Amino acid sequence: MLNALTVDLEDWYHICGTVDNDDHRKWTEYESRVTRNTEKVLSLLARYDTRATFFVLGYIAEKEPALIRTICKAGHEIAIHGYYHQRIFELSRAEFEEDAKRAKEAVEAAAGQKVEGYRAPEWSIRTSTLWALDVLAKLGIRYDSSMVPLTRMGERSFKPFPHTIKTAYGNIWEFPLTTFRVFRERAPFTGGLPMRIAPYWYILTKIKEINRVEKQPCLVYVHPWEFDALAPRIELPLSRRFMHYFNMASTAPKFEGLLRNLKFAPMREILGCL
Ligand SMILES: [Zn+2]
Repeated sequence: MLNALTVDLEDWYHICGTVDNDDHRKWTEYESRVTRNTEKVLSLLARYDTRATFFVLGYIAEKEPALIRTICKAGHEIAIHGYYHQRIFELSRAEFEEDAKRAKEAVEAAAGQKVEGYRAPEWSIRTSTLWALDVLAKLGIRYDSSMVPLTRMGERSFKPFPHTIKTAYGNIWEFPLTTFRVFRERAPFTGGLPMRIAPYWYILTKIKEINRVEKQPCLVYVHPWEFDALAPRIELPLSRRFMHYFNMASTAPKFEGLLRNLKFAPMREILGCL
């Protein structure tokens, strides 16, 4: 079975809930490391002849259009990750619409093609912000990948596998964060901190098990800054420092192992054949 491979294309200072992330007027002062880090991801993908979906921040598309063109030329799918990397529950509906629209225009201009997918910064669709799906459908987005079927990060009642959701502007596909059942809860393991904590063999076995037993595709996600041990570190409280920087050196070898042992495709193609 094919699984969805995804990259959230942002730079080292895009950490939600920090002053560095939220005050975007300061962003021009920061060193840009996104191109060289994304090139590391691109060369791994090329080595294993694998295509992925890149959820691109509108701000990055405007600043680094050549990088977006390189990604397109290599055959990857381009989608959006918001313009200013704001969590949806921190925005009003009008502010969210403005941010998503601006991101779509910036990314489409850099890519020279239409985008169909959206992923919210920090998976921030909650029960209270389900209006975001209406806004996305209104903007012509065909699938979202921002919902998490977990109590703390999202909402436990959210469906755990790809499905369609009715909006005021027609149906939209949802490809939620991949999780597996642990007693009454579920647990994530295919990207970010959970992937950096889980042993490699465990991640591989669990993905194969979900493919075989549930007959469902999984999604794997990485960020370019996870391939950059030398990136400047943002001052964070201890728990968040752990979340963002723990065991970062394990991302690249785990990612490469998954590329070697599983078959992946961009998200749009997987949803197209469900
Ligand atoms: Zn992000």
